Amino acid sequence: MSEDIEVLNCPACGAAVHPPAGQSEFECPYCHNTVRVAPAAQGAGRSRPDPAREKEQADQVMALIHAGKQEEAIQFLMQTNGVSRADAEELVEALADT
Ligand SMILES: [Zn+2]
Repeated sequence: MSEDIEVLNCPACGAAVHPPAGQSEFECPYCHNTVRVAPAAQGAGRSRPDPAREKEQADQVMALIHAGKQEEAIQFLMQTNGVSRADAEELVEALADT
């Protein structure tokens, strides 16, 4: 059993999201946009995060943004998602805008 879980970037907010296995579309935990999973997409698929944990992280990021703590949200994203600072800033700005 080697189902690779792809890491996608939500087309609406740019967040790194992990589609649930076996689903062709799912809801982005950050912006609730419906994200379609491209079957041709080939990701590294090394890490397999727990979707519940990811949802918690998304909620926490949104809470920080809504509390005006964008810097903390950026730091949190960099630590939990392993994204670069530029990507985290971009994502937080996009999320703060919605
Ligand atoms: Zn999104």
